[in-house]
Amino acid sequence: MAQIELHQVSKAFAPGALALDRIDLVIAQGERMVVLGPSGSGKTTLLRLIAGLETPDAGTIRIGGRDMAGVPPHRRDVSMVFQNPALYPHLSVFENLAFGLRARGVARAERRRRVHAVAEMLGVGRLLDRRPAGLSGGERQRVALGRAVAREPRVLLLDEPFSNLDHPLRAALRGELVELHRRFGSTVVHVTHDQSEALSIGQRLAVVHEGRIMQVDTPGGIYERPAQRFVASFVGSPGMNLLALEVELGETTLQIRHPGGNEITYPVSVHPQDTVLPLHEPVRLELGIRPESVIISGETLVDPADCRYPFAVLRAIVRGVEFQGGSWLVTLQVDSQTLLSRTPRLPVLREGQRVVAHLELWRASWFDLSTGRRLELHCQLSPDAIA
Ligand code: ADP
Ligand code: MG
Repeated sequence: MAQIELHQVSKAFAPGALALDRIDLVIAQGERMVVLGPSGSGKTTLLRLIAGLETPDAGTIRIGGRDMAGVPPHRRDVSMVFQNPALYPHLSVFENLAFGLRARGVARAERRRRVHAVAEMLGVGRLLDRRPAGLSGGERQRVALGRAVAREPRVLLLDEPFSNLDHPLRAALRGELVELHRRFGSTVVHVTHDQSEALSIGQRLAVVHEGRIMQVDTPGGIYERPAQRFVASFVGSPGMNLLALEVELGETTLQIRHPGGNEITYPVSVHPQDTVLPLHEPVRLELGIRPESVIISGETLVDPADCRYPFAVLRAIVRGVEFQGGSWLVTLQVDSQTLLSRTPRLPVLREGQRVVAHLELWRASWFDLSTGRRLELHCQLSPDAIA
């Protein structure tokens, strides 16, 4: 176990094309950190830098408090599972699992103990005599994971280890990985492009985009309070709705205007020094709202003053209803923008129908239109505040 610290780490493979751009990230000892980002965002590069397979152009990497500059991979006590892990085809599963241990001079009895423990945990105990050619994809993946874990490294780096597996197996391995980590307790850095995998596995998530860290937070924090519009739309299936509208902030009120809706005024308490918005000036912003926070009702536009909770109320037209197994996703058109609503009950709606969408404003996020950064309006009302 060891803490990993990256300070202002940059890496470019070609002049002017930064694969990683001034990365600051501290991963606590024994923590399970998931790095989440789309393909090409720099995830593999980040792992290879920690492993010592690449050298940073700038910045420092520390493991267990020690600067890793000039320390070769085999001296870092780091195990990495690659995206397409290769097992030794001429060796049995047992020998594959024991390989790193033998190379490190671990005594025979201890080797056997560790291999059996890991094999049992990953459900490959009965396959120890087989060769890799006789294993299924999932079994091979488990052996690759087991080989890395059996060494009991201080740091375990996992590069999209489940991306080549089909869905039920992936779900099973997520659980196994969490359990394995609980028992072995290495510091884990797991990278993936799969946001649901990230949310379910990570104790914390670092979301990366184009070589930069967008946000580091708990899964709940990333989901509820995205720091960037990119994070808002990348996390969730589908991601947050982003709706451009106009707001005007006063000392005690927030007005929201959208062409498709009522003009709404909420009582708020604003500390002018806390808010980045100018007072008494209309500003175009983006409202971020999760599909499960968009509730569809009949055709009549209710007066927000009659609502018990702070909803934004918008006129919408139904453009489609999609069954998603357990819930329905309704595509709405609001003015010229699209808004998705998720509902657990079968909606009785037909295409083209006019409805009203209620947006749960106390769960909304606000983003600056030009920078995409989250804005703290300091006026997110609690549901009771308006009662
Ligand atoms: P990810 O793992 O998130 O898909 P990578 O870390 O593999 O992203 O790549 C980040 C960026 O760096 C990409 O633009 C990729 O093309 C580039 N890159 C990565 N490795 C190399 C390399 N060895 N040579 C040139 N470019 C590379
Ligand atoms: Mg990669």
